[in-house]
Amino acid sequence: LVSRMRPFGTTIFAEMSALAVRTGAVNLGQGFPDTDGPPEMLAAAAEALRAGRNQYPPGPGIPELRTAVAAHQRRFWGLEYDPNGEVVITAGATEAVAAAILALCEPGDEVVCFEPYYDSYAASIALAGAVRRPVTLRPGPDGRYAFDPAALRAAFGPRTRLVLLNSPHNPTGKVFTPTELALVAELCQQHGAYAVTDEVYEHLVFTDAASRHVPLATLPGMRERTLRISSAGKTFSCTGWKVGWASGPAELVSALLRVKQFLTFVNAAPLQPAVAVALALSDAYFDEFRAGLQARRDQLIGGLTDAGFEVLTPEGTYFVTADITPLGGTDGVEFCRALPERCGVVAVPTQVFYDDAEAGRRLVRFAFCKRPDVLTEAASRLRAAK
Ligand code: PMP
Ligand code: GLN
Repeated sequence: LVSRMRPFGTTIFAEMSALAVRTGAVNLGQGFPDTDGPPEMLAAAAEALRAGRNQYPPGPGIPELRTAVAAHQRRFWGLEYDPNGEVVITAGATEAVAAAILALCEPGDEVVCFEPYYDSYAASIALAGAVRRPVTLRPGPDGRYAFDPAALRAAFGPRTRLVLLNSPHNPTGKVFTPTELALVAELCQQHGAYAVTDEVYEHLVFTDAASRHVPLATLPGMRERTLRISSAGKTFSCTGWKVGWASGPAELVSALLRVKQFLTFVNAAPLQPAVAVALALSDAYFDEFRAGLQARRDQLIGGLTDAGFEVLTPEGTYFVTADITPLGGTDGVEFCRALPERCGVVAVPTQVFYDDAEAGRRLVRFAFCKRPDVLTEAASRLRAAK
């Protein structure tokens, strides 16, 4: 194995899901729903399979999906992208992030990101020979995760090539505020940096969040320097489909596509028309999806609080983080490895998503994208472990 990949072991998600299977524990680790997405989308996929849409689709994705992606961004965020040249379909957001970094970073270039970061970011940065410059998110006295603006300023420098921003943020559930985004935008412009945004949780911002979701590309001066990434997995409960997309100015999208064509060439022919159907669903779908997750968030927060955890209320995403100190925990990795034996529940230690392990040592993440009966069972097991 090449040296740049040696620091990366098996992903924590695979490790913890395997532990859940081995121990029969309730899996609140890896973030995937246990119910299917919209029936219209599933029917369209079955129809596409039967209709023989099973060969290589066009390189940038089928026109009807690119058009649907552009229409969706206009409808929800007022962003205009030309489906011909400014949108490309990828194998999930994961491939889009990897291809964006590989397309834009020379070896030694720096990527500013916020830690805890989604695990594929560090690996993609390493594959490009680039260097990550993490800025730490820490829980504040108000229970919200925040960063020190001076630390963000200090992370930018002459080698900064891009900032990789995930909002709503996994694993903290943080939604970056307009003030925070304005600082990111100011620094990008000051340093001539690009932005790559991971917005896979764009439809999961809860009604009590401090701000609504604001795509960084909507800020002045940002559309022309931003690759905006999202995917169908979370919004339509189909994480196994791996249909994602990137939108941005033609030069950035064509750079990404140059890399994508040699990573996967194309992907998911019969699923692409189905995702186009899903993106055009009525507002009621998106509202009910969010409300359903918010109710399950509240259910899990109740369960975790009863079990003694100090819960940090997330403003968005599938996830809630909690401090294990009140339960006598001092290290999230040890705590999560022991939790299935202790009470039959799997969670993910967020420590593994930090370079500064100390900052995340006592924090663990639970996924609430599960059926209410599953969350009830998990809560009762956790209470018994007190
Ligand atoms: N980014 C973030 C922040 C995620 O949580 C995930 C996990 N679903 C992904 C990217 C990966 O998305 P996809 O499955 O579309 O590749
Ligand atoms: N995004 C999901 C999570 O954070 C799972 C992704 C994965 O398994 N790679 O749990």
